[in-house]
Amino acid sequence: MTALALTKSSNQTQVPLFMVEWDQVCHQLQEEFGEAIFKSWLKPLSIEEVVEGTVHIGAPTRFMRDWVVSHYVERIRHLWQKLNPAVTKIEIIVKLSSKVLKAPELTSSHVTGSRTSAHGASDEDSIGADRNVISAPLDTRFTFDNFVVGKPNELAYAAALRVAESQTAQFNPLFLYGGVGLGKTHLMHAIAWHIKACHPKRRVMYLSAEKFMYQFIRALRYKDTVAFKEQFRSVNVLMIDDVQFIGGKDTTQEEFFHTFNALVDQNHQVIISADKSPSDLEGMEERLKSRLGWGLVADLHPTTYELRLGILHAKADTLNIAIPKEVMEFLACKIVSNIRELEGALNRIIAHATLVGREISLETTHEVLRDLLKANDRRVTIEDIQKRVAEYYGIKISDMQSARRSQNVARPRQVAMYLAKTLTSRSLPEIGRKFGGRDHTTVLHAVRKVDEVKNQDREFSEDIDILRRTLEV
Ligand code: ADP
Ligand code: MG
Repeated sequence: MTALALTKSSNQTQVPLFMVEWDQVCHQLQEEFGEAIFKSWLKPLSIEEVVEGTVHIGAPTRFMRDWVVSHYVERIRHLWQKLNPAVTKIEIIVKLSSKVLKAPELTSSHVTGSRTSAHGASDEDSIGADRNVISAPLDTRFTFDNFVVGKPNELAYAAALRVAESQTAQFNPLFLYGGVGLGKTHLMHAIAWHIKACHPKRRVMYLSAEKFMYQFIRALRYKDTVAFKEQFRSVNVLMIDDVQFIGGKDTTQEEFFHTFNALVDQNHQVIISADKSPSDLEGMEERLKSRLGWGLVADLHPTTYELRLGILHAKADTLNIAIPKEVMEFLACKIVSNIRELEGALNRIIAHATLVGREISLETTHEVLRDLLKANDRRVTIEDIQKRVAEYYGIKISDMQSARRSQNVARPRQVAMYLAKTLTSRSLPEIGRKFGGRDHTTVLHAVRKVDEVKNQDREFSEDIDILRRTLEV
């Protein structure tokens, strides 16, 4: 039934069926990927038509199209096909819709579209040889090469790289946000290094919001605000880190707002970081909040086990130190708060081994990190996991303990055991006990099985990711 309606629907004047279906798909996508990703990547898409089972979707830029194709199109197709089996293909095309090209205040879209400017970067190269006195020093370790990309940070990474590589401000501002120690500063420095290397003439200024405030107050005191303004407004790329610090500081906000507007109007790139999304920033004026959300908003999610393990491997590689596999896995499992702490833990273990002259082992790791491990003990409980997994698969919580072995309860139960092992610090026997007094070998088997199936079955692996993400917040 749906198949017929679908192929004809593009000619109808009433709301065609595919629009209704698209709405439903969007709803699901929003649930699965979260508000931020949805707003940044999926909301700006426009549904064009459906012809013979192929859905044509428009994306406002080529970059967005490529990104959606490589990250979401499979999921879109899958969801859509579930609703309507006649849909077999999704085509994403670049379509500069009028909505996206409108003046930014007229659209709630996160992407403002690139505007060309009369002020090319090279016009201004000769102005002021060294105005960068205010700019803070950059950490040489914070480069794109040293940044390990995983699910939680892939959006922020791609956006940062894109901004670093383009001469014009496509996303303005780029707004990066996320919790402490998740890589915001690292990405900003990486952008700065990249621009310095590829376009040495472009003037890049990086500083914390605190420093911005300090400079501004100083300028006020010394009645030097003209020079202050001039300094900021003549840069090609301005990065302000931890902008939440100017919350509640009204005059600084005012000045920041004007600086920001002046740069964006000239099509100069502005990059902002904060610990919260623009709309959640406290003590921030409404107009500033809304202005901050005009460009591309990309968030860094809490780390996952895979990302933590990847980062540990990368760090051990650069330090050229061999660390036993089980120590790496142990750290990735236990130090979950943030990447800074993870690095700190690794450094401590290495320092200890060097000083005391003992091999790195699980045992020494336990000793050296006792306090840190305690603090990182997860708050998520096995009960939480059982409940969430049961909901997700639509089975009863009691089935987590039951002896039923049919696949539709056994597999979710294994998933729950797997998550209990990777997200809590409970031992295998402890986990077994919570699952109806099962043996620790059963739990071990479940963990291995899930790992195995995850590698073969993409959809299953996505289910696990989604569950993990909802449990990790
Ligand atoms: P934030 O500014 O978000 O608080 P930072 O950028 O200072 O966090 O990152 C904290 C530490 O973690 C830094 O040493 C940084 O190099 C490291 N780090 C963060 N994310 C990554 C990553 N994806 N790959 C490698 N190192 C990372
Ligand atoms: Mg930082």
